[in-house]
Amino acid sequence: MKNAVPSMNSSLDGKVAAITGAASGIGLECARTLLAAGAKVVLIDRDGEKLQKLTAEMGENAFPLVVDLMQPQQVDNILDGILKLAGRLDIFHANAGAYIGGPIAEGDPDVWDRVLNLNINAAFRSVRAVLPHLIAQKSGDIIFTSSIAGVVPVIWEPIYTASKFAVQAFVHSTRRQVAQYGVRVGAVLPGPVVTALLDDWPKEKMEEALANGSLMQPIEVAESVLFMVTRNKNVTVRDLVILPNSVDL
Ligand code: NAD
Repeated sequence: MKNAVPSMNSSLDGKVAAITGAASGIGLECARTLLAAGAKVVLIDRDGEKLQKLTAEMGENAFPLVVDLMQPQQVDNILDGILKLAGRLDIFHANAGAYIGGPIAEGDPDVWDRVLNLNINAAFRSVRAVLPHLIAQKSGDIIFTSSIAGVVPVIWEPIYTASKFAVQAFVHSTRRQVAQYGVRVGAVLPGPVVTALLDDWPKEKMEEALANGSLMQPIEVAESVLFMVTRNKNVTVRDLVILPNSVDL
């Protein structure tokens, strides 16, 4: 008798994935993972020098697209850039984001503005720029890198938490709007991952977290993204919370 469990198609041959914040951390690992699964990948970041070096190492199916997501006009042109480089678009991963923690009373509102603009406005605007294309072709995946802070109010990082709650709200509402066109919208919600984003964490906190196993590696997020974009269309998993064994929020 045939096994009734549906198998996951892990081949992305012929597909194009574009990932923001792809010169570092989670975005870079996602680019490598989707490339290894057969996709062409467009790595989007403001760090052009790093992008050139990384895409040269990754080979002919990786393309650099330099975009400063804080510049609305550059964000509005993102689809043109992707299509010129790779010819089509199937997966758009709104991944770029910045972190800020610390006591709210001591916070710098200018820094809050930068974090909120990147994590919310730039992410939403980039999705707006690519959605008409995916809707017209009646297929596509939009993935956000949200955070566990998007579902659990992490008390020591109110601005970051507020930004990721906004991402979750946007993901859920947009999913309902575009499902009828064959476009899937989902999010990965990782706990703490070892990337440059945690560089500003106090050293002791970092060492303690490493020692008790409460940090993850970017590949764990990347494999979850691969699962999401290759999963059977009838499966109802839409957001994935990815937590280490021990997490102290
Ligand atoms: P990272 O700092 O390693 O990478 C962020 C990338 O975004 C960098 O390459 C940077 O150049 C790029 N970037 C920043 N501002 C930009 C701009 N204006 N225009 C274009 N590119 C810009 O961080 P990461 O940990 O890989 O974070 C990626 C995402 O994962 C973020 O949305 C973050 O909130 C989320 N996340 C991270 C963690 C974690 O613990 N590292 C946990 C949960 C969620």
